[in-house]
Order: sequence, then C-alpha cells, then structure tokens
Amino acid sequence: MTVPAVTAEWVCTRCGTVNRKLVPADSDETEDRCQHCRAKHEVERGKRKVFWDAELD
Ligand SMILES: [Zn+2]
Repeated sequence: MTVPAVTAEWVCTRCGTVNRKLVPADSDETEDRCQHCRAKHEVERGKRKVFWDAELD
C-alpha cells in the first residue's frame, strides 16, 4: 500500500532558505532541518496549500 505524498515547502526562520520535504499526504506536521544552516524546525501545515509554517525547534 502506497501512501500518497505531498511536498511541504517551508522557509527557514534563521536564514530564509526555502526547504522542501516530502511528507505523507495525511500528515499535518513534520520536523526538518534547513538544508543551508541546519537549523531544526517544526513544520506545520498552514492555510496555504504549498507553504507550511515553520518554527525554530
Ligand atoms: Zn536556514
């Protein structure tokens, strides 16, 4: 069984880099590290379709 996935895009609150992470379509939150500065963020599905809300963890 394959779970559909969506791309979560989030903006690093530290350096402003846009990051992308593939997450299961039914998930509302995830954790990811900025690919540029490695800051760990909690990322939550926002009101906007593509961009998710990120908070420094
Ligand atoms: Zn960053």
